[in-house]
Amino acid sequence: MKLFDTLSTMGHEQVVLCSDSVTGLRAIIAIHDTSLGPALGGTRVWDYETDEAAIVDALRLSRGMTYKAAVSGVNLGGGKAVILGDSRTIKSEALFRAYGRMVDSLRGRYITAEDVGTSVRDMEWIRMETRFVTGVGGVGGSGDPSPVTALGVYSGMKASAKFTWGSDSLQGKRIVVQGAGNVASNLVAHLVKDGAKVLVSDIYADKAKALAASTGATVIGTDEVFSTQCDVFSPNALGAVLNDETIPQLSCEIVCGGANNQLQQEDKHARMLKDRNIVYAPDYVVNSGGLMNVASEVTGYDRTSVMRQAEGIFDITMNILVTARDRSMLTIEASNAIAEERIRKVRHVHGSYSGTPVIRGS
Ligand code: NAD
Repeated sequence: MKLFDTLSTMGHEQVVLCSDSVTGLRAIIAIHDTSLGPALGGTRVWDYETDEAAIVDALRLSRGMTYKAAVSGVNLGGGKAVILGDSRTIKSEALFRAYGRMVDSLRGRYITAEDVGTSVRDMEWIRMETRFVTGVGGVGGSGDPSPVTALGVYSGMKASAKFTWGSDSLQGKRIVVQGAGNVASNLVAHLVKDGAKVLVSDIYADKAKALAASTGATVIGTDEVFSTQCDVFSPNALGAVLNDETIPQLSCEIVCGGANNQLQQEDKHARMLKDRNIVYAPDYVVNSGGLMNVASEVTGYDRTSVMRQAEGIFDITMNILVTARDRSMLTIEASNAIAEERIRKVRHVHGSYSGTPVIRGS
């Protein structure tokens, strides 16, 4: 891997390698772009096959955070960290405190949070060494982000409905929800309340059954989610669910869900959806409520204003869909372009001096 060429092509500002042989810490902190504010992104603990795979993941994920923050109007840059190792065996107080000191050494250029393989308890260990951590429990903590994420997905879905059918009402619409976890459960509650006919599926049948029982949704099998005729398909489980195999099976007009990285290959699979006249609401846009929630901790957590911000995902999504249509772009291209434009303009605004000069003798 030509590391510096990769950093230059992807636009990264800084990559920090952290090592501590006593605690077993091996971490990579990737700061992609801080034009809009400090780089915020979670810390993932994952047993990568190679060091290179870990670096590539940190670079890719941190870049994704820049776009997510930029498009959702949050004043943060993009960053992400990975700790190498098996989360079932490597985690300890000492390891996270050693990592916390590394985060602290960046003096706020990077703010961390939970991600795959980390928990509130791990964030609290990091907090013992640095204040640049979000997602901690207790007073001032943002708590479970899922209700905010789900409200954002619901708002993005209503915008997609308005764009496609001329009305944002989901009443009577058939909506297939993949997953019956935290985001899906909150989302299904909104959809059912609106009078949608919701079909839900989970690899754990008891989770799907429980969600259906509490909301009035119908359970379908995991193998039926792609081919079931519906108005909206909403992925809220895993990534890469939109691929060569699944897209030809889809029988819907809109794809809008909270799962991260839904397109297995961004450009190719977004194009396949467009060619089938399926409106794709970009995942990182409609699920940005989770980031809004954690970002609010940086300035002082306020759930009411965060929920209002998540409702704003309606306008953000609509702008992307309209831009894509008017400029004959893929929706994912339009959202990337809107994010890049915001970064460029704010960088320009910050280019003018607004300090207070100290003049000798005055
Ligand atoms: P979760 O673990 O609570 O729920 C995921 C559910 O999907 C689980 O019940 C799991 O059994 C189910 N599942 C896994 N594979 C499946 C399959 N093939 N078919 C059907 N169901 C399957 O997770 P979550 O917090 O609800 O997050 C869901 C998705 O949204 C993830 O991709 C996550 O990265 C993304 N996301 C979540 C948030 C948040 O606030 N929680 C924010 C942004 C993005």
